[in-house]
Amino acid sequence: MQLERDLSFLPPGKNGPWENFLEQVERVRPYLGKLERWIETLKRPKRCLVVDVPIELDDGSVAHFEGYRVQHNTSRGPGKGGVRFHQNVSLAEVMALAAWMTVKNAAVNMPYGGAKGGVRVDPAKLSNKELERLTRRYTSEISVVIGPDRDIPAPDVGTDAQVMAWMMDTFSVNQGSTVTGVVTGKPIALGGSHGRRDATGRGVYVTAARAAQREGIALDGARFALQGFGNVGNAAARILQSHGVKLVAVQDATATLANAKGIDAYALAEHVARERGIRGFKGADAIDAEDFWEQEVEFLIPAALEQQIDETRARRIRARMVVEAANGPTTPAADDVLGERGIIVVPDVIANAGGVMVSYFEWVQDFSSFFWSEQEINARLETLLSDAFRAVCQAAEAHKVPLRTGAYIIACRRVLEARALRGLYP
Ligand code: NAD
Repeated sequence: MQLERDLSFLPPGKNGPWENFLEQVERVRPYLGKLERWIETLKRPKRCLVVDVPIELDDGSVAHFEGYRVQHNTSRGPGKGGVRFHQNVSLAEVMALAAWMTVKNAAVNMPYGGAKGGVRVDPAKLSNKELERLTRRYTSEISVVIGPDRDIPAPDVGTDAQVMAWMMDTFSVNQGSTVTGVVTGKPIALGGSHGRRDATGRGVYVTAARAAQREGIALDGARFALQGFGNVGNAAARILQSHGVKLVAVQDATATLANAKGIDAYALAEHVARERGIRGFKGADAIDAEDFWEQEVEFLIPAALEQQIDETRARRIRARMVVEAANGPTTPAADDVLGERGIIVVPDVIANAGGVMVSYFEWVQDFSSFFWSEQEINARLETLLSDAFRAVCQAAEAHKVPLRTGAYIIACRRVLEARALRGLYP
């Protein structure tokens, strides 16, 4: 198989997300014109760093964790992308997530390349002190490749503003001066930005609203089903609800719940903050996990992990559109099934780009030490993202392709044009 021949450092099997990315790139090949000459650039990450992260546990024993930082492409600017702490993190997954960041940043015209990091660990099993030691040691290990003008991490699954604060502090202490711009998604008190916490969820709302407008779907009274009630899902749910859209089914790692009359996203958020999951929430009934995919809704919003919508689930879905808050939730085969069934997919590289947009605003504010109001941030996010979404729709219509391919046409052309202009060294 080509993958094994080209990237022999990847273990065979279990490379699903990366293979999905390669297939998504193949689908854009016919639309690249002369830039096709450079397509191989997208199929190989620029740099993969694998690190050992040893820490002392609270009981005095030593544990080792495997960590990664992948810079997929830096043709258009420094690497940018989150850090994931999860028990299933692998090099292939981080490569795919880094690659999707390259496409996302180019699709919404952020002046960044694509990067991602992660540690294979279940953070729920660590004490707060152990989590801090893990974060600091991981940051030290990857500090040879990150920096405010090299590669700027941010939160992802299993990490949050506190983890970013520890990363910023560790990098700064090693550097000998405070470097706020080395990570984004920091607490406001450390140079974080207003609006960053909810930014990805706000972007999900903005793109869902624009897509609904195009399809003649009224938001007020529309329904949505949501997988994942973490940073992204929680914010998306609250903001959609505040615009009259009703949450009727929700699933996370602890339970699957439904209520046709509507689930109060604000009350659920309070429950999740207390209980670390949706299980036990009184305002809805438990349903079978697979039945989640069959809910009749206007919007189905995956906001958890990759490869959740495969061909089988794609056949069962009864939604008008899938809005991809998560990265890589739909396989290419499932994309085809949804397309045949007339179900629109608003792709991840645009639907969840609100996070990296406000990360960009944070980075700019840190450099200039001049901070904007939440109102300004939200208004700029809405304008930039709406414009980017409109451009994706136009590209898709012009070439008669799905929105994902439309987004990839815009993004891959931008990345490969930069690649071609810079040329090869030596
Ligand atoms: P998070 O850790 O805050 O939340 C993850 C959620 O997914 C939790 O509710 C968890 O219970 C749920 N989940 C985990 N495994 C599951 C399973 N097997 N079935 C159902 N639910 C499951 O993570 P997050 O930051 O909200 O990220 C969610 C997705 O959004 C990821 O794909 C991430 O890459 C993407 N994303 C995040 C950001 C960001 O700013 N945090 C930005 C862009 C994209």
